[in-house]
Amino acid sequence: MYNTRIAALMAQIEKEKNILQLVRGAFQAEPCADELDLDFTFTNVQFATIMAKRAMERLKTLEALLEKARSHDAFLCAECGEPIPLERVLAAPESTLCRDCQELWERQKACESYVPPQHLHSRSRGGMAG
Ligand SMILES: [Zn+2]
Repeated sequence: MYNTRIAALMAQIEKEKNILQLVRGAFQAEPCADELDLDFTFTNVQFATIMAKRAMERLKTLEALLEKARSHDAFLCAECGEPIPLERVLAAPESTLCRDCQELWERQKACESYVPPQHLHSRSRGGMAG
């Protein structure tokens, strides 16, 4: 089970590295012929910068996850102790809770921050309206 996780993480790392390879081309633009080319190159470089940043961050996260995957208590829910599915770990690497516990936690948080509507309107209402 742990080997599958490591293999999946390494596949993801390869994917991000490929993105970085592809993006690299945009930074090696040829001497520009005219203004239109220049515009195009500039947009490409901006886009490539965003893509590269994203891929680098993702790589850092994945490498941290890979490190974590090598220890045996990795990816267990901090609340119930059940294993967190790999798809969830990849989609939300920062998650320390399984889906069920996360949903429960979000519901509790939503209840705590809930302000009843009449409470919001009480101050703006006119004194005579009563
Ligand atoms: Zn849980």
